[in-house]
Amino acid sequence: AVMVGRRVRSRRRWWKVVTAVQELEAAAATPVGRLRQVVDAMAVEMHAGLASEGGSKLKMLLTFVDNLPDGSENGIYYALHVGGTNFRILKIQLGGQRSILGRDVERKPIPQSLMTSTSEEFFDFIALALKEFIERMGNNLQLSQVRGKDLGFTFSFPVKQTSVSSGTLIKWTKGFAIEDMVEKDVVECLQKALSRRGLDMNVAALVNDSVGTLAVGHFLDKDTVAAVVIGTGTNACYLERADAVIKCQGLLSTSGGMVINMEWGNFWSSHLPRTSYDTDLDVESQNPNDQGFEKMISGMYLGDIVRRVIHRLSIESDIFGPLSYKLSTRFVLSTPLMAAMHEDDSPDLREVAKILEETLDIRDVPLKARKIMVKVCDVVTRRAARLVAAGIVGILKKIGRDGTGGISSGRIKGYKSGKMRRTVVAVEGGLYTSYTVFREYLNEAVAEILGEEIAPYVILKTMEDGSGIGAAMLAASNSARSVDTVQ
Ligand code: BGC
Repeated sequence: AVMVGRRVRSRRRWWKVVTAVQELEAAAATPVGRLRQVVDAMAVEMHAGLASEGGSKLKMLLTFVDNLPDGSENGIYYALHVGGTNFRILKIQLGGQRSILGRDVERKPIPQSLMTSTSEEFFDFIALALKEFIERMGNNLQLSQVRGKDLGFTFSFPVKQTSVSSGTLIKWTKGFAIEDMVEKDVVECLQKALSRRGLDMNVAALVNDSVGTLAVGHFLDKDTVAAVVIGTGTNACYLERADAVIKCQGLLSTSGGMVINMEWGNFWSSHLPRTSYDTDLDVESQNPNDQGFEKMISGMYLGDIVRRVIHRLSIESDIFGPLSYKLSTRFVLSTPLMAAMHEDDSPDLREVAKILEETLDIRDVPLKARKIMVKVCDVVTRRAARLVAAGIVGILKKIGRDGTGGISSGRIKGYKSGKMRRTVVAVEGGLYTSYTVFREYLNEAVAEILGEEIAPYVILKTMEDGSGIGAAMLAASNSARSVDTVQ
C-alpha cells in the first residue's frame, strides 16, 4: 500500500509538471495570426514614433546617417564597439569596389564592476585598450602616426543624436548603470579619455550597433534596407524617407532619406504573448517597465526565463530532485548554456545533465526531466525568434516591402506590377549567428508570415562583427579629410 501511495503521489507530481509546461506553451504561443497582429502593431507604433516626440514606446531616433556606404570607401580605419558583454576594437582596410581587404578585431570582456562605475573610469578603460591595440597592431607604430585619424564609435545604447558624430545617452539598458553618463555627450566623454591617454584621434561617427550593421550590409549589398541586432540586447534600424519623419519636418531636407534607430527593444503591444515568468523577470530587473520586447527576446534574458520556469517546476514537483538554491539566483543560467542544452542531440541528453549539474547543482535527474528542460528551452526560444520575425515584417510593412503596399501609402512600393523587389535585411548578434535553432525558427517564421509568393524576395544576411566594421565605414564616409591621406 505504501508503494502504491508513493507511485500515485509521484504520478500526481508529474501531472503538475506536465500541466505547468502546457500552460507555459499556451501563454507563449505564437500562431501566425498572432504574429500578424504583432506585425501590424509594430508598423503602427513606427508611424506614431515618427509623428511626434514621445508618440510611442518606439523612440524612432534620428541618426543623421543620410548616406550609407556604397562600397567605394577605401583606406584604413579604426573603430570601437561598446555593446553588451564584450568590448571590441577593430582596424579595417577598405579597398573600394565593395571590398574589405583586411580586418583585425580584438574582443575584451567588459568587467562587471565597470558597468556600474563612473563615466571617467569606463572611458579610461576603453581608451587604454585602444592605445594598447594600436601599439600592438602597428609594429611599434608611434602613437603620433595615428594623429588626427578618424575613428568610428559604435555605442549600443539609446542615444539622442545631435549630429552624426555627437549625441547624449538617453538611458542605459542590458544591466549597465553608470549614472553620471545619462544625458552626457558620449563622444565628448570618449574624446576626453583619448586625450588623457595621449591619443589624438577624431571620432568621426557615433553609431548604434544596428546602424553599423546596416552600413556594412549596404556596403556589401545595395538592396539592404534594414538591420537587426539580436545579441545581449535587441534593436533594429532601417532607411526611411525624410518626409516620413513628421516630427522633424523642416529640420531635414525632404528629398533624401535617413536611417532611423528604432530602439525596438522598448516596443510593447498587448498582442505580445506574455507569461507570468516575464512579469516576474521585469519586476525584479534593473529597469522595470522598460525594454519589454527585449526582455522576451534577447540573450541577456532568455536563459533567465528558462531558469524561472525550472525553478517553479522544482518547487511543485521533485522531478529535478531536491530544490537547488542556485535556481533562485538571477542570471545563473546564461543563454549560451541554454542553447547548448537545447541543441544537445545525444540520445541520453548528456550535455543537459552536465549543465544541470555544473551550473544549477541539480544531479542525477531522470531522462524525462532532461526532456522537460529541452522542451522549456524550445518554447522560450521559439517565441523569441518568431517575435523577431514579426518585428522584421513590421518594418517591411512600414516601408512597403512586404508585398502589401504599406499601411498608409496609397501607392504600392516595392511591389510594382506584381513584381516584388529584392529586399535584404542584415542581421547581427550571437543569437542569430551562434544559436542554430533560433536562426531556423526566425527564418521559418519570416517565410510563414510573408507567404510563399513574397518570401523568396526577402533575404536575411548574417553580418558578423558588422556593427563595428560598419562604424569604421561610416567614419570613412563622414571623414572630414580626403581618404587618400589616411594610411
Ligand atoms: C539597446 C540598443 C542596442 C541593442 C542591441 C539595446 O538594449 O537599447 O541601443 O542596439 O540593445 O545591442
